[in-house]
Amino acid sequence: MRSLHIAIVASEIIPFAKTGGLADVCGSLPRCLAGMGHRCSLFMPAYGMVLRKGLPIEATEVGFTISMAGRQVACRLLKTRLPSSDVEVYLIDQPQYFERESLYGDRQGDYRDNSERFAFFCKSVVHAIEQLDLRIDIAHCHDWQAGLIPAYMATGFGQYGWPHRAASVMTIHNLAYQGRFWHYDMALTGLDWRYFNWREMEFYGDVSYLKTGIVFADKVTTVSPTYASEIRRPEHGCGLDGVLRDRGDDLIGIVNGVDYDQWSPATDAFLPKTYDASTWRDGKAACKAHLQSLFGLPIEPSTPLVGIIGRMASQKGWDLIIETLRQWLNNRDVQWVILGTGQREYQDELQNLAAHVPHRLGLRLEFSDALAHNIEAGADLFLMPSQYEPCGLNQLYSLRYGTVPVVHATGGLVDTVVDANTDAVRTGTASGFSFHEYSISAMEDALERALALYRTQSQTWGQVVKTGMQQDWSWGQSAAKYLAIYEDCLSKKKLS
Ligand code: ADP
Repeated sequence: MRSLHIAIVASEIIPFAKTGGLADVCGSLPRCLAGMGHRCSLFMPAYGMVLRKGLPIEATEVGFTISMAGRQVACRLLKTRLPSSDVEVYLIDQPQYFERESLYGDRQGDYRDNSERFAFFCKSVVHAIEQLDLRIDIAHCHDWQAGLIPAYMATGFGQYGWPHRAASVMTIHNLAYQGRFWHYDMALTGLDWRYFNWREMEFYGDVSYLKTGIVFADKVTTVSPTYASEIRRPEHGCGLDGVLRDRGDDLIGIVNGVDYDQWSPATDAFLPKTYDASTWRDGKAACKAHLQSLFGLPIEPSTPLVGIIGRMASQKGWDLIIETLRQWLNNRDVQWVILGTGQREYQDELQNLAAHVPHRLGLRLEFSDALAHNIEAGADLFLMPSQYEPCGLNQLYSLRYGTVPVVHATGGLVDTVVDANTDAVRTGTASGFSFHEYSISAMEDALERALALYRTQSQTWGQVVKTGMQQDWSWGQSAAKYLAIYEDCLSKKKLS
């Protein structure tokens, strides 16, 4: 296979900025592609927090102005690399837009100028690729923040040369976040009003950046096969199911990979003791005691410990979790550790519960990589009762850390966790527990089944743990699928 040059465009990339799985994917997929002999150039905003990280960032010669509804806004291009790699990362520097407390919003909600910020980002990326003369083959655009780029490429915006040779791929990490703005913001996109129609950019009277990407990209991907079929139906289609059905076979689901250099209990520098599939009992015992002390819980080796990490949004099933905690904390011999940030009402309720039953529930309302790694290693079970889950990364990390996932059977959770029913246990394929109906009783049944196995059948529990630990969810296979899609787009482009 020939070597391709792929631009990866995203609003967050580890280790520079992260609020969720998007950042993990955009920081680790390019490493794998580069390892397979392809060149990747990454583009993201130069948020203040990125500039202050102390990473080696250089200025480039490239600077330009972008027209935003008639106003000229200056942009400087900065450059860095993904740490310990040759993968180049270009940072779009515009302090008025990107020197903010966080990425997308503050306590009051989303920043009011998000449409302007990310229209500027998309235009700047298209312009920078031209100015740098990168000659890319593929623009791989992630989520609504990069959704205008396929339209710029397809419509001859700015009369750039490179889009004639390149193809676009749009990846949906979560269909619920659509970049939907009032129709007057069409002016900010710089695209002609004739594209403001129900088949292209318009969405119920507004302009939708994600719909724009879905409609104009050469191919559309999402992050698991099950989610790809779910979003074609009204229940999970967030109003875009018709648009997605229209794309037919051009919509493909590919499970995210894991970067095992970052997420592996055998090498994890955050842990008090490393371990692998042959030493997991000793290793996890040390990590569990450490986790219990980090969260102020009594050090009890045989009490089952359930871990939860995630954004505090309704998507992640906090309603079920909180209701179960209310019922279980006082009368079950189970410990819980929870790490997350997000919606106030969930935080308040959890704080209230943790204050009443501190010996059973350890809570940290912050974003901390170190704690996330320690939970993955120290917990016995990992609970993920998401209402919907495009892919989910935490269950993949849990599998590798021998922390048995208990999940709602939706999206990527279906594609990655095999329920420990009798057949699966007998054939040695069981890797976790799943429940089908999104309800408190179904979740509690799955938890009860998991706890019973943990308490009474240590050997079978060990088999489930090891099955998960030995699985390979690294990027290799998924990156090969993306490459096949890139090639397919390019061959179709040549024919047209
Ligand atoms: P989503 O992208 O929907 O938030 P994923 O499971 O795909 O969910 O990815 C979430 C990523 O963010 C994981 O790497 C997870 O460990 C991390 N994460 C979420 N919340 C926190 C937190 N409070 N502290 C540290 N890491 C977190």
